[in-house]
Amino acid sequence: MPAPAFPNLTVLDHPLVQHKLSLLRDRHTSTRDFKQLVSEIAMLMAYEATKDLGTEPVEIETPLERATGRQVAGKKLTLVPILRAGLGMVEGIAQLIPSARVGHIGLYRDHDSLRPVDYYFKIPADEVARDFFVLDPMLATGGSAVAAVSALKGAGARRLRFLCLVAAPEGVRRMLEAHPDVAIFTAALDRELNQRGYILPGLGDAGDRLFGTRTIE
Ligand code: URA
Repeated sequence: MPAPAFPNLTVLDHPLVQHKLSLLRDRHTSTRDFKQLVSEIAMLMAYEATKDLGTEPVEIETPLERATGRQVAGKKLTLVPILRAGLGMVEGIAQLIPSARVGHIGLYRDHDSLRPVDYYFKIPADEVARDFFVLDPMLATGGSAVAAVSALKGAGARRLRFLCLVAAPEGVRRMLEAHPDVAIFTAALDRELNQRGYILPGLGDAGDRLFGTRTIE
């Protein structure tokens, strides 16, 4: 469903996505279940985010006769997780699209300035001809998302989409200002950011919850 305030945003209000998102938000959800849920929601989101990919005819032989089917046209789609939390979304999407290539962008958010700092960038060649799905579970201030998309565009990428699980209005607005051509898909548009840049109500630190690097006091 397109969000009226943001022409660049699609919120997936599918019952399965919303059910899994509620489990994901729950502070009592274990690391193992959290990882599984991120993967499942990402897969469901990819289904929606790929619905307008171009297709072309393909000749096939059924056990009975020759037929014309359709296949996704063009170069292999490329998933670009923003390290590290974006990694959690790769597996689910790759199950749906096994031929997808995977690039990586290493950006971390400085906890004091809240600005993105990059330390790694590697994507497949033929950037201009590929569709890129940039992955990060949380679109918070938008700093990392804008920096990642700018880096990809700088490398030649032209067709980009951004997939997250939870978005804050601040991040969506910042992306709209910086990259109005990039469609954003999310499972939820939350209320706001707190003073430390966390999304409210959110789900906490997605990276820590995915990789079990911090226990909740
Ligand atoms: N990153 C997270 O992991 N969680 C937030 O709430 C915001 C940014």
